[in-house]
Amino acid sequence: MTTGTPVAVVTGASSGIGAATARRLAAAGYHVVLAARRAERIEALAGELVSAGHRATAHTLDVTDRAAVDAFAAGLDRCDVLINNAGGALGADPVATGDPADWRRMFEVNVIGTLHTTQALLPALTESGDGTVVVLTSTAGHGTYEGGAGYVAAKHGAHVLAETLRLEIVGTPVRVIEIAPGMVRTEEFATTRFHGDAEKAAKVYAGVPEPLTADDIADTITWAVTRPPHVNIDLLMVRPRVQASNTKVHREL
Ligand code: NDP
Repeated sequence: MTTGTPVAVVTGASSGIGAATARRLAAAGYHVVLAARRAERIEALAGELVSAGHRATAHTLDVTDRAAVDAFAAGLDRCDVLINNAGGALGADPVATGDPADWRRMFEVNVIGTLHTTQALLPALTESGDGTVVVLTSTAGHGTYEGGAGYVAAKHGAHVLAETLRLEIVGTPVRVIEIAPGMVRTEEFATTRFHGDAEKAAKVYAGVPEPLTADDIADTITWAVTRPPHVNIDLLMVRPRVQASNTKVHREL
């Protein structure tokens, strides 16, 4: 068992759920390592956390770049928790007309990115004596919806990665937690999905009284990660009360 301040790596920590999770884990006593492509954002967040008396470091990283991920992992002294949060959706077209480039990109970030960081950090997580891998999937990893096939396929891939890894490493001191959120209103998720079209992005949340917030999910992740090491929250699906399924959302329009 490693002593000293535990280290939590959060990918996609430059916005939304990742940034909120970094804040929560830092407050829970972790040295948080913030990884994302936008350096200025993670540096600003790390600065904010350090000013508040927490431990935080920023590392510019593209999780789809294996060599960069390996170099990042080699530079860490230890790793107790890995939050595979980097990801997202691109496009909402039907299968008949969806852009294969969007599909490829979603698979690259949500599945291969998670594979890269998990493979690179698994030795350190095992070495820690009590490691935790969190995979942020989605309710889209558990059921489909029209216009969602590319994202749904990618998140199903991430779900399968988490479920299979749990089987394969049972008996080692590493647990695998999957968090599958429903509708979360974050600043960038829908805008990214619609390639910057703010009007289309706003429609996702139109009339929905109270979607989840990034902090709701950060709270859930932090709760799962801070259970005693022998407790494994295999899968937690979290939706706002107004969302009964991927296709049934109460709207007040
Ligand atoms: P955001 O768009 O705010 O966050 C996505 C994060 O991923 C950004 O910080 C981005 O940082 C990072 N990222 C994207 N590509 C890469 C890459 N190649 N390498 C490293 N980082 C990358 O969305 P959310 O916070 O809403 O989503 C976070 C996660 O939760 C995603 O996996 C998403 O699929 C999942 N989720 C979201 C839901 C929602 O309704 N919002 C619902 C269910 C799941 P940067 O651009 O700086 O690299």
